[in-house]
Amino acid sequence: MRHRIAVIGGGPAGLTFARVLHRHDHPVTVLERDPAPDARPPGGTLDLHEGMGQLALGKAGLLAEFQALSRPEGQAMRILDVDGTVLRDWQPRPDDRANPEIDRGQLRDLLLGPLDVQWGRAVTEVVPGTRDGVLVRFEDGRQETFDLVVGADGAWSRVRPAVSSATPHYTGVTSVETSLDDVDTRHPDLARLIGDGSTAVYGVNRSVTAQRNSGGHVKVYAKFRAPLDWQTNPDQADVEAMRSSLLALFDGWADPVLDLLRHGTAFVHRPLYVLPVSHTWAHVPGVTLLGDAAHLMPPLGVGANLAMLEGAELAESVAAAPGPGDLDEAVRAFEEQMWVRAGRWAEITAAGLERLVSPDPTEALALFEEVQPS
Ligand SMILES: Cc1cc2nc3c(=O)[nH]c(=O)nc-3n(C[C@H](O)[C@H](O)[C@H](O)COP(=O)(O)OP(=O)(O)OC[C@H]3O[C@@H](n4cnc5c(N)ncnc54)[C@H](O)[C@@H]3O)c2cc1C
Repeated sequence: MRHRIAVIGGGPAGLTFARVLHRHDHPVTVLERDPAPDARPPGGTLDLHEGMGQLALGKAGLLAEFQALSRPEGQAMRILDVDGTVLRDWQPRPDDRANPEIDRGQLRDLLLGPLDVQWGRAVTEVVPGTRDGVLVRFEDGRQETFDLVVGADGAWSRVRPAVSSATPHYTGVTSVETSLDDVDTRHPDLARLIGDGSTAVYGVNRSVTAQRNSGGHVKVYAKFRAPLDWQTNPDQADVEAMRSSLLALFDGWADPVLDLLRHGTAFVHRPLYVLPVSHTWAHVPGVTLLGDAAHLMPPLGVGANLAMLEGAELAESVAAAPGPGDLDEAVRAFEEQMWVRAGRWAEITAAGLERLVSPDPTEALALFEEVQPS
């Protein structure tokens, strides 16, 4: 039976869900708020784990294409202390495919493939239990009904209120993101500092991480504990004011580390929000959530992986469900499985954030030792 299925959001969760359904020849309507795929910068690189993001790509039939695009050398990880001393310098083996990196834009294009996404369709509300199914309302006043609506619309989901009253709360940690272009030619010293993967520096209650993307592009993240209204510079467009605030915050750190901030182009201020650990809800027929909409966690390299795996698993279950009752049972079983796994990761990442932005910087190093393969 062909169920009327809509997925709200064309991020890693929504696109993986749609792509796996497509592989099973099941129609799906993909509704995305952005007016076009390249309407905003896609963000930094993602490492896709073998048993998670890569497993999901396998279910979508895209693993070989991913392997051709991804950067196994991007798994390299260097840790410095605030005076620039290298504390750890981990390099992957040449055949290590455990967590290769891929640019978000490349991943999005890979997943998009033949999908017919409806761009510029911002959802405002989802109403379950109407006579004709689940009603979806759009910003432009239009509305449509479906048998199943999957909320893959991220942290500030408009689908979530249909199943849960939970809202994200601030972790107390803020991130400011900047980037460097053409690093190998314009900043060769920084290119050497960063290497092929990431370099992280941990101080008291703050850190700076630089992460190589493809094409000589580098993303730099400064993380620190701050009140939610931390804005020494209310106008983020004032790049120089933002830069001086950050340089003041990291005063005394080694020059090469500060150069990452000195040479950064624009700055984006992102307070880190999370949903409550082990967020669940009473099952609502016809509506479910995936990815950040279901379990927003600190950004510790898991969110996109979980989102994709969930998308692939839900799509497989839904495609195999013959009738309407089976569809609901499939969704209910999926939710139970998702909650257990996501709850575990939410605990791990919450504890991880406490250790990475900690009064005791040796905690970050200890965490690295615990998770890094030898
Ligand atoms: C700095 C940073 C680094 C990270 N690094 C990693 C990493 O290395 N590895 C990893 O696994 N995870 C990482 N994450 C986490 C990861 O980015 C998220 O967990 C992941 O993007 C979640 O995917 P998603 O599809 O659920 O949501 P999103 O990626 O947020 O996608 C949601 C989509 O829904 C659309 N949308 C939103 N509202 C509406 C609406 N009302 N109507 C229609 N469409 C809508 C949005 O435009 C968007 O396209 C990182 C996060 C951050 C902030």
